[in-house]
Amino acid sequence: MATGNIGVTSTNIFPVIKKFLYSDHEIFLRELVSNAVDATQKLKTLSSVGEFQGELGDMKVRVSIDKNKKTLTVTDRGIGMTAEEVDKYINQIAFSGAEEFVNKYKDNAAAIIGHFGLGFYSAFMVSDKVEIFSQSYKEDAKAVHWSCEGNPEYTMEDTIKAERGTDIVLHIGKDYEEYLEDSKIEGLLKKYCRFLPIEIVFGKKKEWKDGKQVETEEDNVVNFVNPAWTRSPQDLKEEDYTEFYHQLYPDQFEEPLFHIHLNVDYPFNLTGILYFPRIKNNLDVRRHKIQLYCNQVFVTDEVENIVPEYLTLLHGVIDSPDIPLNVSRSYLQSDANVKKISSHITKKVADKLFELYRDNKEDFQNKWEDIKLFIQFGMLSDEKFYERATKFALLKNVNSEYFTMEEYLDKVKEAQTDKDGNVVVLYSQDPDANYTHIERAKQKGYDVLLMDGELDVHYISQAEQKNEKLRFARVDSDLLENLIRKADAPKMELSAEQQEGLRKAFETQLPLDQKLNYYVTFEAAAEDALPVFLVQNEFMRRMREMSAHQQGMAFYGNMPEQYNVVVNTNHPLVKDLVAQMTSETVLETPETKEGEEPKEAVEKTVFTLAGHDARLAELVDLAFLASGKLKGEALSKFVARSLELLK
Ligand code: ADP
Repeated sequence: MATGNIGVTSTNIFPVIKKFLYSDHEIFLRELVSNAVDATQKLKTLSSVGEFQGELGDMKVRVSIDKNKKTLTVTDRGIGMTAEEVDKYINQIAFSGAEEFVNKYKDNAAAIIGHFGLGFYSAFMVSDKVEIFSQSYKEDAKAVHWSCEGNPEYTMEDTIKAERGTDIVLHIGKDYEEYLEDSKIEGLLKKYCRFLPIEIVFGKKKEWKDGKQVETEEDNVVNFVNPAWTRSPQDLKEEDYTEFYHQLYPDQFEEPLFHIHLNVDYPFNLTGILYFPRIKNNLDVRRHKIQLYCNQVFVTDEVENIVPEYLTLLHGVIDSPDIPLNVSRSYLQSDANVKKISSHITKKVADKLFELYRDNKEDFQNKWEDIKLFIQFGMLSDEKFYERATKFALLKNVNSEYFTMEEYLDKVKEAQTDKDGNVVVLYSQDPDANYTHIERAKQKGYDVLLMDGELDVHYISQAEQKNEKLRFARVDSDLLENLIRKADAPKMELSAEQQEGLRKAFETQLPLDQKLNYYVTFEAAAEDALPVFLVQNEFMRRMREMSAHQQGMAFYGNMPEQYNVVVNTNHPLVKDLVAQMTSETVLETPETKEGEEPKEAVEKTVFTLAGHDARLAELVDLAFLASGKLKGEALSKFVARSLELLK
């Protein structure tokens, strides 16, 4: 038997392995199984080129647990190792690589905690002792037994091993006995090894018999060896993509909308399939994340630094040996390769969306509601994507017709350009509530967009910023005549004193609400417009809505909502009220401040309106009703009063 000291001089890496990798210790299984898969594939390659003439036989990799001996074993029938190879790859190279790494980063725990593959030695994260039994494929090679108890000493001796290949036996430490649980190991295999190219077996398949689960004779293979993304798109049918989607997310019952198969070999290697899910809401989508693989080994599903944030709404896999996985996250963000990958994916996604739109507009329109959030998110966060997306981002009007922005502007340009040359796009967030306004707009030959999406208000601001001569206005934010001004505003015929009197009269009828502010204003609107109506300032309302999504805008969010109660001075009913007003001349003494000379009283005409409260109340309520704002007690009073009028 040979004993020796593993080539570690300045640092003993075992405490480092245990301490720094604590948070990620489950990756030991991924490392050992991928080594086993590598060894198996190497032998397959040797066999295919004729350098190995023997029988390949059963090449499955097997993972097993012995609860009594407290061991976990990974077995392969790959190339195996001779004593010299164990010495070279395990005693020397593996250690020197790890030692170099530890030396380099020993003052930077974060870098070590970050993912770096310690490979074989990660087994010591969970084991008191690790043994290797290996029989090389090489003729005449003796089997070797290596053993090490988590210190720099190891033993190595010849042994007898019937089968070609390697067994890695982990004597699981006391604190890590969870790794002796079947369910834990099966879960980890399914997480990290689900798409490895060699069959991985964990125990026997179980089936239900007489109300309980019993083992069958059949191997329980935990992985899919030929995942769709590693195959050529020409060989795949639509069903294959759907099937793979369900392999990837076994608990997802929804079907994806469509997919993009990524296949790049220059200037970096990347394959993958991205799926567009139906985006119901943010939370639901983010339950299933894009998974990142490196040569079919699962690495992470936290891809935030590798793809732009809006792409994280997609599902699927990305596999690239070129993404540096063993470095910290902040490094990833600045890595040139990663940046290229990200912009490549963005371009691919945009190209695919354009193709889908171009090839079948109707189908694309049907999917629009499901992908709108994603596309707007992309447009808002990525200038390049915005540019590409203008060709397929759609607008929908209240009649459910779809347009690109360019098509839409062409459609409304003529009718909806105001006297200053701005195209004013009218929209509604709630066609039911805005029914009266929408009908009036239609009568005038205007079109109204439906903008009820989560990001629409941001999208609107962005569109305005990109196009100087474009303005959006919610259809109820003012009189149509004011929103799309074709000529100068008509002159107001009421004097300031008359307005003052009428304002006071109306104010007595306004509802009291702490969260809402109402101001009475006057407008010489069309005779056929409502006598009194509610409008909400476009700018303030938008700021409020945007503040819901953005930090630093809480100021707007906390302000009470403001509405203008606009009195249409051209309406016959209002004209009649004005005619009923009485006036008197009073003397009024202007206020004086301390130390000032008392001022002289001046004459002032005061208008009042008495005896018309019921009518004023009715007009105010009608305005609230037309805006969908008449509720609760006010609504019930309105009904009672209206019945009274009918008697
Ligand atoms: P890496 O796999 O990154 O090279 P490891 O520390 O995991 O690093 O393994 C070191 C080397 O030991 C491997 O490159 C391989 O040559 C050898 N090795 C590890 N596991 C096996 C195995 N199951 N069969 C054959 N050789 C193995």
